[in-house]
Amino acid sequence: MDKRSSRRRKAVQRLSRARAKTARRRLDWVHQQTAKLASGFALVATEQLRIANITRSAAGTLEVPGQRVAQKAGLNREVLDTAPALFTSLFRLKVMETGGEWVEAPTRKLKPSQRCPACWALAKKSLSDRIHVCADCGHNEPRDLASARVVLKWALGTHLGQELAGTGVRERPCETPSLAQQRLE
Ligand SMILES: [Zn+2]
Repeated sequence: MDKRSSRRRKAVQRLSRARAKTARRRLDWVHQQTAKLASGFALVATEQLRIANITRSAAGTLEVPGQRVAQKAGLNREVLDTAPALFTSLFRLKVMETGGEWVEAPTRKLKPSQRCPACWALAKKSLSDRIHVCADCGHNEPRDLASARVVLKWALGTHLGQELAGTGVRERPCETPSLAQQRLE
């Protein structure tokens, strides 16, 4: 075997060892973080994640070429790098183990990122709109926080047996502040 191919083989080995190390570190980190979170909260409310959809390529087809392909590819890498599916499944497991409650909101029906957490009205926004500003009630706050609050309120409403969230009914599912809500604020 000549020197060049031997160097190449060694480089490939080094790269794969480095990748394995990164994967182990990520898994350790996810275990630690999810355990810490699970021990601190009695109720965890999250959105149903469909990673396959989120990371689907924006390339489109010949007939319908996709838009913003490069941006989507970058977003896909980020989503896959942070391994949200792994995080979510381990988090869920640990919440169950510690006797907590795990609630998943139906993302498509509830539309947490498009809904006002204060008045429950739908406020359409694109991914680049980072601040939620409600045209109906004037409530405004950072998009991700607003979205999390919608999911939490839905979860608390569901928790109390109320069945109005995500059905287009413009009411808050729940007004009762809870431990989980106080922690979010
Ligand atoms: Zn509002």
